[in-house]
Amino acid sequence: MANSIQIMGKVVITGSIRLLTGLHIGGAAAGLDIGGVDNPIIRHPVTREPYIPGSSLRGKIRSLLERAYDLPLNKKVQDVRLHECYNENEYKTCAICHVFGVSPGERERSATQGERADRRGEWATFKPTRLVVRDVQMSEGSRQELETAETDLPYTEVKWEASIDRITSAAVPRQNERVPAGVVFEPFEMIYTLYRLNNGDWQQDAEWLKVVFEGMRLLEDDYLGGYGSRGAGKIAFENLKVELRPLSYYHGTGNSITLADGLNLRDMTQINQIVAQLKQGG
Ligand SMILES: [Zn+2]
Repeated sequence: MANSIQIMGKVVITGSIRLLTGLHIGGAAAGLDIGGVDNPIIRHPVTREPYIPGSSLRGKIRSLLERAYDLPLNKKVQDVRLHECYNENEYKTCAICHVFGVSPGERERSATQGERADRRGEWATFKPTRLVVRDVQMSEGSRQELETAETDLPYTEVKWEASIDRITSAAVPRQNERVPAGVVFEPFEMIYTLYRLNNGDWQQDAEWLKVVFEGMRLLEDDYLGGYGSRGAGKIAFENLKVELRPLSYYHGTGNSITLADGLNLRDMTQINQIVAQLKQGG
């Protein structure tokens, strides 16, 4: 039974996120927010500025990868179907569950999945999540630009959209709030931990980092937040930097190592080099 988990280092991916179209990540229920738009965006509770929650980025990247790898969407949280391995055997070869984690312990049971869900608790205990995605704030430049621009609401625009009743043809106007195109959020930061389980090696962990870059490529060609089919949520990752902080960095005896400065997500040669370097411990 696996029970020794050692951190061998952390890969820190930083950069900026530029909005190529307006962004809508849903926030508090209508009426509670200033202005009372129908579909408000999420804002920082203190500064009231828009931000990108790490959970939104992470969730979207995971969900795109689950579809790219055609994984069974066998878990249901509220009304959302997603993938999570049910046993050690499935998990062994599943890059997505290694990178994004599996939830230990009790879970929702259905008549068909009940038995499998019951067996799940024990094996899932020593399965570390490798990827952490931080919340991303608006850049200083964008904040200043939006403060001088006359936006509908602080930092945002309100779009009116009409839903057409298919029988009466009546247009029902709805408002939805968006952070305008051109806005930059930074620093974007993802941290990928390389583990060594039971005194093994971290070669496979280094290899699985590729999945993170693949997810970022998929997201650039998909959308973040809501109203994607109506054009919202197109983003670009920019100024990407990849750095390895080996264990010695945390012990205070070593330095961090820059693996890429200006990473091109589509350059597989560059990505393979990063992984090769990681396998050699930097
Ligand atoms: Zn899985």
